[in-house]
Amino acid sequence: MSETIPFFDGHNDTLLHLHFPDRGGGRSFFERSDHGHLDLPRAREGGFGGGFFAIHLPPDPTAPPAAASEAGPSTTLRLPPALERAYAQRLVIAMSAKLFRMEAESPDQFHVVKSASEIEQCLEKGVLAAILHFEGAESIDPEMESLEVFYRAGLRSLGIVWSRPNLFAEGVPFGFAHSPDTGPGLTDAGKALVRACNRLGIMVDVSHLNEKGFWDVAALSDAPIVASHSNAHALCPATRNLTDRQLDAIAETHGMVGVNFSVTFLRDDGARDPHTPISVVVRHVDYLVNRIGIDCVGFGSDFDGATIPQEIGDVTGLPRLVAALRERGYDTAALRKLAHENWIRVLRETWRDA
Ligand code: ZN
Repeated sequence: MSETIPFFDGHNDTLLHLHFPDRGGGRSFFERSDHGHLDLPRAREGGFGGGFFAIHLPPDPTAPPAAASEAGPSTTLRLPPALERAYAQRLVIAMSAKLFRMEAESPDQFHVVKSASEIEQCLEKGVLAAILHFEGAESIDPEMESLEVFYRAGLRSLGIVWSRPNLFAEGVPFGFAHSPDTGPGLTDAGKALVRACNRLGIMVDVSHLNEKGFWDVAALSDAPIVASHSNAHALCPATRNLTDRQLDAIAETHGMVGVNFSVTFLRDDGARDPHTPISVVVRHVDYLVNRIGIDCVGFGSDFDGATIPQEIGDVTGLPRLVAALRERGYDTAALRKLAHENWIRVLRETWRDA
């Protein structure tokens, strides 16, 4: 029997399931469920030590219907409408409270981490480590006042956009057999946001950003460039994936790519087919490791946010992925890097903790 290597993960949408009962079946994180991909009992079984808990904002059901804006050079790609800040703030506060209440309910099993050392301690002790991540900056005002407050509350990672436009940048619309170069780059407010995140020590996530926005972040940020849940465009030409040039820029900053389990970002045909073998995940890992090195690759599962290969199924299937990687030739040292060490290294540099 080989030792279990704890898995630290770049992205899950579990808070969305927990906050909206119609999505998650009204489940509790602390009880085993058949719904979704991730809860504490299943995390324990799968060796899932923690990760980024995203606050993803669904459309405002009370907003008047708006025509989706057209994005980029292709008329086939459409972006969902922007969100109102008041709606976004209400929802991120409610969903962050959910996360903090989970910690309060079970502090010796679930901890909201604010430093890399805390992640290491949690993995050692078997306490599930959660990073508060906002997937889109709609709740942030241009004066960055809410950012200061959210940082003090525990926000340590921010995606400038989800796949919609906002004050700071434009997300990449979902599309296949298409470049991620779909629209304009960061606004002045977006550039100020990157600087503010650098100053505070909040990780800036480029997943869901269009290509021009990516290059603006790369030019501006003084932290490693991180795509928390994106794959290789060369293997799966979805707009959400990263071109070789983008990957090289990430490697230059000793940044990080978290391999996404969404079959639509894995398969070379982009089909939403759960009968996608684990070998396709391994193929992306191989490609990324060859291109940017074993120190810059990890995972960003998208658990509870995507259609994932049935062979993984849910978080309890992670040992099957680890076994497939081992079979492919990744030794324990390499697997430890992929599974959690690279994430901890990047976060330590970004958060500048000892
Ligand atoms: Zn996402």
